[in-house]
Parts: sequence; structure tokens; C-alpha cells
Amino acid sequence: MSAPRLEIHLERLQHNARTLVERLGQQGITVTGVSKATLGDADIVRTWVGAGIGSIGESRIESIEALAATGVSVPMLLIRAPMLSQVERVVAHAAISCNSEPLVLEALARTAERQGVRHGVVLMVELGDLREGILAADLEAVAQLTLALPNLELMGIGANLGCQHGVAPDARNMDELSCLATALERRFSVHLPWCSGGNSANLPWLAAGGDPGRVNHLRLGEALLLG
Ligand SMILES: *Cc1c(COP(=O)(O)O)cnc(C)c1O
Repeated sequence: MSAPRLEIHLERLQHNARTLVERLGQQGITVTGVSKATLGDADIVRTWVGAGIGSIGESRIESIEALAATGVSVPMLLIRAPMLSQVERVVAHAAISCNSEPLVLEALARTAERQGVRHGVVLMVELGDLREGILAADLEAVAQLTLALPNLELMGIGANLGCQHGVAPDARNMDELSCLATALERRFSVHLPWCSGGNSANLPWLAAGGDPGRVNHLRLGEALLLG
């Protein structure tokens, strides 16, 4: 075998996943396992699912399609806004996608209607890291659009911090996310299954005793791989 090489110990990854699923579960938080750093490796994804990970997140539609072909048994989530040129493939293979743009939501709805399926939508909210998401002031209008469009299912709202401009998850921004989820539910008389607090950068906030509030979902990649 040539070098350098990467040795992956699936039993250690299984341990990491079990530990995180169990500890977060005690706080009412479910985990999407983000496989993008492994290019959607099927052995790792299977290990995660066996350890109790309930859904898989990917940034590349190619990886979602390849995983679907291996018969992944849990829903797959595109953790980025779909490109308009890939909407057909996203609706065909990803159960859910993360979204910020009305134009993309309209394309997803048209495509889901044509394909005769329902597509789940997580609306991302910008909470200071300036990477992605809808401004809080615009969230209600985009939620209203999502609820009005055919064949879309509003799964909830999410945030992604600790990525671009060094804004880490903390009591203030996570509380804001919780408040936004509650406000949307009241305004539209709906139940939002997911309040998706973020990525591995959310774990220090929780470990320090942060109150999850409405946050009941995280998208974890790095923490599952490195422990
Ligand atoms: C990459 C990514 C994640 C996972 O991030 P980790 O730091 O690997 O846990 C979660 N959400 C989104 C939107 C991402 O792009």
C-alpha cells in the first residue's frame, strides 16, 4: 500500500457516534451525521446509522446519489442551498434540504410537484456568522411562502455558526433561534419538528451547561470523526 494513507477505525467511529447520540439524546437533541469530510463514505455512514444516527447530511448531491444507490436506510439531508441546476436531483434523492432563497424554494416546489413527492425544507437563519441564512426580519415572509408552496414540508429552522466570521454558538444566539421557532409556530399555527442549532461548534456551548431551549437537532461531522 502506498503512503501517506489514512487508517479509519470504524469501531472507534461507532463509539464516537453512540456516545454523542446518547448524551445529546438526554438533552432532547437528535443528530444528523454529516459525511462531507469523507466524501460520503458508505462504510462510515453505515457505521453511524448502526450507532443510532437518524439521518445523514451531505453538501454534495453526487455523494447523496451514491449513498442512495448503496441503500442507505435513513433520510438524507442536503446541508446547503440547492443549486437551481441541481434541483431535480436534490428532490429525487434528498428528503430535505437547507434553504435561504425564495427562488430556490419555488423551483423545489415545482419539481417536487412534477415528481409527485414531498420535499422537506429547513430554513436557515443568519445569526451573526454571515455565512448563510435569512435575516431574522425576513424569516416570517419566507416561512409563509414555504407553507403556501405545494409539495414542500417546512421541517423547521436552523443556524450555522462558527464557520466564517468566528461567531460561536452561545446563550444569546441560540436563544434567538429558539424564540424565532416559537414565533413562527404561533404565527402560522404549525409544529416545526426541527430547531437545528448548528454543527460541532455547538458542543462546547452545550458542554458548558448551555440551555438547549428549543434546539432539538444538530448536524455533526467533525465531532463524530474526531470524538
Ligand atoms: C459542514 C456542515 C456541518 C457539519 O460541520 P462540522 O463542523 O463538521 O460538525 C453542519 N452544517 C452545515 C450547514 C455544514 O456545512
